[in-house]
Amino acid sequence: MENARWDNTERSKVGILGGTGMVGQMYIKLLEDHPWFEVSYVAASPRSSGMKYSEAVEGRWHMQTRTPLKVAGLTVEDANNVEKALGKCDFVFSALELDKQAIRDLENKYAEKDIPVVSNASAHRWTDDVPVLVPEINFNHLDMIPTQKQNHGWKKGFVVVKPNCSIQSYLLPIYALEKYGFKVNRVLVTTLQALSGAGYPGPSSFDMVDNVLPFISGEEEKSEKEPLKILGRIEKNRFVTYESMRISAHCNRVPVLDGHTACVSIGFAEGKPSKEQVIRIWREFNSLPQQLKLPSAPEHPIIYREEEDRPQPRMDRDDDKGMAVTVGRLRECNVLDFRFVGLSHNTIRGAAGGGILNAELLKARGFL
Ligand code: NAP
Repeated sequence: MENARWDNTERSKVGILGGTGMVGQMYIKLLEDHPWFEVSYVAASPRSSGMKYSEAVEGRWHMQTRTPLKVAGLTVEDANNVEKALGKCDFVFSALELDKQAIRDLENKYAEKDIPVVSNASAHRWTDDVPVLVPEINFNHLDMIPTQKQNHGWKKGFVVVKPNCSIQSYLLPIYALEKYGFKVNRVLVTTLQALSGAGYPGPSSFDMVDNVLPFISGEEEKSEKEPLKILGRIEKNRFVTYESMRISAHCNRVPVLDGHTACVSIGFAEGKPSKEQVIRIWREFNSLPQQLKLPSAPEHPIIYREEEDRPQPRMDRDDDKGMAVTVGRLRECNVLDFRFVGLSHNTIRGAAGGGILNAELLKARGFL
């Protein structure tokens, strides 16, 4: 399939809500030379509002490249004031960190004002008519958007969200097996989650050096439940969650800057594949984003490493622009059927890059 259909069109103007935060900064970095999107609007808390973007992030710019010049000069607006965004952007990425109800209300207000919202926040993930999108898995959930618009009386606006940042490291490899007919019904997952997942400044260095925190508020529930909505179906204009899989998660914060690791055991309902089959399925797996050649789609969504000590966050998180899931250490499990280690970059695939891929799919499908 060709890419050219969209490449020569005028770039969409995008706003970043929460543009000064950890995820917002990653959006600004990743969108610097994006072929379809350009950042034209940045909003954050009232604390940053009125400042030039470069002033608002002074001393807390965490990317390893300089602040893009075009964005550095933009004035940061108050994200709570939706009127300020009118006429300045075609849609927004939401990377806000505030009370869940406040985020839901605010994202709805943007949609109501004809500004579609592609969100990273968890607030809307359990809203009945909001898709939680992983483009390689449930692209068909976009079929809910017309229903959502109708439910609210919205004309152009809608809300689509992405799942929790740790999920892609195990859900994509599991989904690939499901797609090839091997139904996984039990999953035990222990995540080792990076500091950047907590936003800036996150836990103090005193808490993290020489230590592991065995609790991340709300994370185990998200890790166990969100996959079931993603793997679910649409029935009578509602999402019906997938009931054939049970997931048990332990989530830990570890002293790694970027890259969430997941140690996973899986059990099959029936018909266990061979180890060689599993590796072949992972290596061959691709889906709609690859077929459409979306600009941020990894060429190989799942990369299998043969070395016995991979994947490692520092070595593997940036593979395929930080958008691939790197998997290794596939072996028999003494309790379930197989075990493996998965890794994905939490602020790229798990946050801003994943949000951009969602928006690319929405654009390619004519929703933006
Ligand atoms: P963060 O670094 O704490 O940034 C939060 C952003 O929200 C900042 O831009 C902040 O603006 C803005 N904000 C705070 N209070 C506000 C208010 N009252 N009104 C308007 N804006 C306000 O958080 P983050 O790590 O980037 O996370 C952002 C969102 O993405 C969260 O919902 C998080 O759960 C989700 N997420 C994060 C990750 C990750 O890996 N970090 C992954 C997936 C999803 P100021 O700078 O002006 O305070």
